[in-house]
Amino acid sequence: MNAVAGPGGIGVLDLQGGVQEHLDHLRRVGVSAWPVKRAAELDGLAGLVIPGGESTCLSRLLTIFGLDEAIRRACGNGLKLWGTCAGTILLARENVGETPSLGLIDIAVSRNAFGSQLDSFNREALVPAVAREPIPLTFIRAPKIVRVGEGVRVLLQLDDYVAAAEDDRILVTVFHPELTPSLAFHRYFLRKCGLNPAGADDAGLDPDWTPLSWTRFTHHV
Ligand code: GLN
Repeated sequence: MNAVAGPGGIGVLDLQGGVQEHLDHLRRVGVSAWPVKRAAELDGLAGLVIPGGESTCLSRLLTIFGLDEAIRRACGNGLKLWGTCAGTILLARENVGETPSLGLIDIAVSRNAFGSQLDSFNREALVPAVAREPIPLTFIRAPKIVRVGEGVRVLLQLDDYVAAAEDDRILVTVFHPELTPSLAFHRYFLRKCGLNPAGADDAGLDPDWTPLSWTRFTHHV
């Protein structure tokens, strides 16, 4: 896509990982959403999603392209950030046993804390700040948030870990709302960015969404 990000739109960091799924969800809630590959493309954005993927790879690419410094600077100037899964790892101030990347929110994460890729799972939970109905959650070789600092609010505590949290600038979720039919977290992030998303504060289940939506799968008969 060659379109230029408009003021007040939302960017999705487009280096590696689940980019298209976030762009699709953001457009479903009626906002302009753009892939971001270069520092200059952060200009004028209201928010940036750092998607899931592979955090070591993403962290190296952030450094190679000078995006780490650019994102830190933009965040200092008011850009809101949302990390999903690997994005949460990148944003965490502490990454247990490893070197932190952006270090922008005072949480500690433990990578791959549920086991291997085969230990990925779905579940549902009520996240009162986000929606008044339970939301489907998809965990793919997720980290656990094992500590939150002062000024960080817990949005969802499950078993022995925090699954979603935020401070005034940054939202983190260890699961993937963009891989479910629920638009509730995308709406929540847009409100955090000062935008006004379409739709109610229910679970936000998109009736047209299917697990194949992002594949551009066309059925030839
Ligand atoms: N396991 C990946 C990592 O540690 C994160 C997985 C994901 O983003 N779904 O980087």
